[in-house]
Amino acid sequence: VSGVPVRVCARCGHGVFPERSLCPRCGAGEWALREIARGRVEEETTVLRAPVPLDGPVRLALVRLADGPLVIARLERDAARGDEVEVTYQDGVPIVRI
Ligand SMILES: [Zn+2]
Repeated sequence: VSGVPVRVCARCGHGVFPERSLCPRCGAGEWALREIARGRVEEETTVLRAPVPLDGPVRLALVRLADGPLVIARLERDAARGDEVEVTYQDGVPIVRI
C-alpha cells in the first residue's frame, strides 16, 4: 500500500497530480516525486452511471492531499466533507479505504 505519487516542483514546491511536464505555477520542468497518503475530503458524490465499467454506483471524493493537490479518489468507505482520510493508490486510481 502506497500513497498517491505527487510530483513536487523542484523550483517552487508546487505539487501536481496527475503528472505534467511543466509546473503550472512557475513553468519549471524538474520534479521530485513524493508519495502522499493523507488528505481531507472536500466534496463527496455518487456517480450513478460511471464512464468505466464498474459494478453499481461509484462514490467519488475530491480529496485535498496533505501539502498537495486536489485529487479525485474512489470512496470505498463512508466519508463526509472535512474527514481526514488515508489515500492509497492502485491501478492508477487514488482510493479512500480507511
Ligand atoms: Zn514550480
